[in-house]
Amino acid sequence: MKIFATPLLAWFDRAGRKHLPWQQDRTPYRVWVSEIMLQQTQVATVIGYYERFMQRFPDVRALADAPIDEVLHLWTGLGYYARARNLHRAAQLVVAEHGGEFPQSIEAMQALPGIGRSTAGAILALSRAQRHPILDGNVKRVLARYFGIEGFPGERDVEKTLWSLADECTPTERVADYTQAIMDLGATLCVRSRPLCAVCPLTEHCVARIEGRQSVLPTPRPKKIRPQRTAYVVLMVRDDGAVLLERRPPAGIWGGLWTLPQFDDIEAAHAWIPPALRGGGQGGGIRSLPPYAHSFTHFDLTLHPLLVRAAPVGAVADDDRYCWYEPRQPARIGLAKPAVELIRSLDAQPAAPMQRQSSLL
Ligand code: SF4
Repeated sequence: MKIFATPLLAWFDRAGRKHLPWQQDRTPYRVWVSEIMLQQTQVATVIGYYERFMQRFPDVRALADAPIDEVLHLWTGLGYYARARNLHRAAQLVVAEHGGEFPQSIEAMQALPGIGRSTAGAILALSRAQRHPILDGNVKRVLARYFGIEGFPGERDVEKTLWSLADECTPTERVADYTQAIMDLGATLCVRSRPLCAVCPLTEHCVARIEGRQSVLPTPRPKKIRPQRTAYVVLMVRDDGAVLLERRPPAGIWGGLWTLPQFDDIEAAHAWIPPALRGGGQGGGIRSLPPYAHSFTHFDLTLHPLLVRAAPVGAVADDDRYCWYEPRQPARIGLAKPAVELIRSLDAQPAAPMQRQSSLL
């Protein structure tokens, strides 16, 4: 696709970066190390690390022979240490299985640890001038904007479309320069926020620029819809302030902690409350309190508290499963957070006439 590659290459000739350390003596080994270091890390940070790394490990055999601790030491500060471990393992495989020469085919290159399709394509394009498209984060952004591609690029269909556009745009001539150029354009002009469209060589035909959609392309990662659950909890409170708690089963949410007796629906909660405490025209009955929201890692839970006042009688089950908890003299037991906060909120509740407890508890 000449309309894309030609102005991009002209811009690269004029303004592209050509003096970075990994652009000199472009062997597959040197390009590979730079590509791995540049994943998640800015060029300015990488330069010093890259030079120290190359001094200590000038070729793939030196890297393969080094102890992993030394590799990790030279990586210290770059972060994402799996990259360094993969680099070391891949170097050992290149020596053991490819006689110390990087493979020529993209398939064999991709079979090495830590080398995906885009990195494999970049290494082969930059070091061997083989024609392969690349599609790293910067290139995805440029292509999504230039062609006006909607949809989060991490989605399979969108990624497939972008790969096929990346392939169409990659020229047969000057593939190394083109590869460097599109990476540079994404890193320096077509940046995430406020791209420099006025000086961009692709501005004339760029869909995002023409339609003013630079800020919404590429489409951001969709926010996951968190599951919402509800439950009913019974705050059974004696007139001396003690609250009835139930111990959760050992496994699952709040495993082994003490919580307010909890039910999936209001009917089950009402059925559990002893008939004498349900109201029926006498006493305080059952009173709904404002809902309480609690977030777990994978879902949100809204608890609907039902307040029931009960006069103290002795024969209430202080057994393994239930206990009366006295907030003023708290027992040293593990309490789930909603129980703590709902019990605390009771101070704001007006007192109500007491009912006698039934024998249920
Ligand atoms: S014109 Fe703007 S949005 Fe389009 S590719 Fe260039 S910098 Fe990116």
